[in-house]
Formats: sequence, structure tokens, C-alpha cells
Amino acid sequence: MHSFIYGPVASWRLGRSLGVDLLSTQGKTCNFDCVYCQLGSTANPFAERREFIPITELTRELESAKGVAADFVTFSGMGEPTLASNLGQAIESARSILHLPVAVLTNSSLTSMEEVRDDLAKADVVVAKMDAHNQETFEQVNRPTIDLLFSDILEGLEVFRARFKGKLCLQIMFIEMNKNSATDISKVAKSLLPDEIQLNTPLRPCAVKPLSPSQMSSVKTQFGELGNVITVYQASRPAVTPLNSNETLRRRPNLRC
Ligand code: SF4
Repeated sequence: MHSFIYGPVASWRLGRSLGVDLLSTQGKTCNFDCVYCQLGSTANPFAERREFIPITELTRELESAKGVAADFVTFSGMGEPTLASNLGQAIESARSILHLPVAVLTNSSLTSMEEVRDDLAKADVVVAKMDAHNQETFEQVNRPTIDLLFSDILEGLEVFRARFKGKLCLQIMFIEMNKNSATDISKVAKSLLPDEIQLNTPLRPCAVKPLSPSQMSSVKTQFGELGNVITVYQASRPAVTPLNSNETLRRRPNLRC
């Protein structure tokens, strides 16, 4: 029975994505409470990193998933994966056992911490959230549950960009609340020299409405005609067969990410 590993799910960014949830808590464990979060309200507003799943238990599950048809192992799940203090070790275990590239979906909140940047640097792909261009929009959209400064997050991402040899993607969720800030957000995003910019809008069931395809096209024009900008409406998704439907549906209600 898999309880930390879920999917593979059909990811518009990563193909067949085998999820690893290093938190695996009953409710959402996060230091944000984004207005568009599909996991509901933040049940566990953790401020400190800690171990949630021992590596020995994770290793056992990874061994049982050997041979799965997937393109990526992706650290994501019931909250923010960098809150797990053994993330770096878990990334190395996943890569060595499954022989697949490893991605981490992070909300970027802890990139000002060197130990978090060290862990993230072990991944092949880091998909970092950036939904705002200033503290006011950051607080409105991401609703941090602890004292966090947008300027610290930005600085952390800049330091990480300078050292990271893998692929850095910025994921930007657009909703009514921040769509008029697209130009300002694009300037911040481009300053980080990402390898890819992923423009998203919440298509999974949540508390806010997604932008329409034409609104997202308009947002995309603010990011210029660079070849490295992709949008959720234009992406295709592969067919997938999850290892365990219950554990997958708990984290990804429509088998997509
Ligand atoms: S960072 Fe992710 S898990 Fe946390 S509240 Fe935002 S969308 Fe949900």
C-alpha cells in the first residue's frame, strides 16, 4: 500500500509525474494559505522545518514503485515540501532508487534559508511559485500564515538562481486579484532569469474562479513572445495510470497537477 507516493498524475509541466508527499499529513501543512489552494484551508501552519516521514519508510515505498511508468518524480502533496527537513536526502534516495529525474514544486517561501537552497539544488527541476510583485499582492494572494517578507523570498530566489545548475521554472498563478499586475510580475519574473515561466490559473475546484483562455492570452502578452513561456490552457497532458487512486485523489482530486 502506498501512502507517501501517489500518481503518476498527468502534469501539464512534467508529463507523467509520480508524486512524493514528504508531509503526508491529514490536513494541509503549509506556511501559505493561497486563496486558490485546492487543498482547502491550511490546517497545520508550520513555521519550522521538521521531519514528517523517516527516510527508511520513504525508501521502502520507493523500492515498491520501481519500474513505474513515469517521466518525473515530483515532490509535492499536502502542502509545502521544503517544510520537510529531510527533503535533500529524500531527493537523492528517489533518484537513486527510481532512476528518474526529480522535480520539486515549492511555494518559494523558505528560499532565504541556505539549508533549503542546498536541498532544492539537489533536484533536476525546481518549479518555484511567484504570484506577486510586492508585499501587498503577496499577502492578498498567498496569505502567508507566518511573518514572511516578499523581498526576502525574492532575494532567496536570486541567490538560488545564481548557483542552481538544473532547470528553474517560475510558476505564476493568475486570478482576478492579480491579473492587472501581470506587467509588474513579469518584470520580477524575468529578473530571475528562469529557464521557463509557467502561467497558470486554477482549473481544479477551489474557492476562486479561473481566468478564461482569452484573459490568459492577454496575460501572456505581458510576458513577451519569449519561447520559454507556457500556459496551462495550451498544454497537453499524457495518459496515466495511478498506483493507488485513494492516495492520489486525496492530493490531486482530478488526477492532474
Ligand atoms: S503554497 Fe501550495 S499548498 Fe500552500 S496554500 Fe499555496 S497552493 Fe496550497
